[in-house]
Amino acid sequence: MAAKKDYYEVLGVSRDADEKEIKKAYRKLAKKYHPDRSDDPNAAEKFKEISEAYDILSDPDKRKRYDQYGHSGIDQEDFSFNFDDFAQGGFGGLDDIFEMFFGDRRRGGGRSRRRPRSGQDLKYKLEITFEEAAFGTEKEITIPRQEDCPTCEGSGAKPGTDRKTCPKCQGTGQIRVTKRTPFGHLAQAKTCDRCQGEGEIIEDPCPECDGEGRIIRRRKITVNVPAGVADGNQLRLTGEGGAGEYGARAGDLYVVIKVKPHKIFERKGNDIHCEVPINFVQAALGDEIKVPTLDGKVKLKIPSGSQPGDVLRLRNKGIKAVNGSGRGDQYVKLKVVIPKSLNQEQKQLLRKFAEMSGEEINPESKGFFKKVKEAFGGN
Ligand SMILES: [Zn+2]
Ligand SMILES: [Zn+2]
Repeated sequence: MAAKKDYYEVLGVSRDADEKEIKKAYRKLAKKYHPDRSDDPNAAEKFKEISEAYDILSDPDKRKRYDQYGHSGIDQEDFSFNFDDFAQGGFGGLDDIFEMFFGDRRRGGGRSRRRPRSGQDLKYKLEITFEEAAFGTEKEITIPRQEDCPTCEGSGAKPGTDRKTCPKCQGTGQIRVTKRTPFGHLAQAKTCDRCQGEGEIIEDPCPECDGEGRIIRRRKITVNVPAGVADGNQLRLTGEGGAGEYGARAGDLYVVIKVKPHKIFERKGNDIHCEVPINFVQAALGDEIKVPTLDGKVKLKIPSGSQPGDVLRLRNKGIKAVNGSGRGDQYVKLKVVIPKSLNQEQKQLLRKFAEMSGEEINPESKGFFKKVKEAFGGN
């Protein structure tokens, strides 16, 4: 940053200039360098310089400090305004001599005019069955949402009339409020209270929507649920949310999937897990049983010597990946059920079986008791 120029030099006055001279010089220069009037590319910068010089020199206390200590005697807090704020909000000194606006260079431009808001995003919780999630489904849902008013087609104006440019702000959406400052009046931009910043007003509101342009309707929507969706997945239906304000973009509808638990199946990723009960004879001798899958019952071979908790796999009987890349498997866990009651003949046969087997009945038990002996010291 270049060194700050001397305030007296900036205003072109002598060091003993009186209040009147300073004011006169400031007005002349401010008029010359007003950014909306001047062709000088540095007008804004010069205007700022002039205003700053005047702000300090027009205040006897600040001027005294400046005379004594130069720029180092002046703090940022000494300025009665923040130039950066002004540059953003639009400002000027409104006086009997001139009126100026600064910041918003496009006169009456729509820089700060409020844009019509886009529509609301909506969320809908859709509960589906395990099978529907696995194979996909089509569901019709009913949601209340904002839609364009059919009477005024979303304009909010009574049919046959139009929205008009706001007369208070001339369509800019902003009005200027003036207040006194050390160097005249200051105009600050505020949202127009007549049109709430929209720049347009409705003189004859549509009777159906009261000028809102939108009404709430219950709308039936068909949701295509793809095969493979999982609990908690969200489907986005673009543009199916609430209608936007006066033709602005509509919101989206998010359908959140809730999958009901299944009585037999449990899902892990794209695989399905289930438990199938068999008896100890089937486990020991092996068998072929039928197990339920998403595609109906299928045959499953149980190898002889199966143990409780053994897991068998049925390839490609799981859930189709939602992105289409293949299908999961089904895992069948064997639950060996020991009969709780036996008749006399069954008991006899089992006793005979035990006698015949001796310790052979469970070869693993030998190893187990050996370990017990080692652990507890031989007795
Ligand atoms: Zn309407
Ligand atoms: Zn207005």
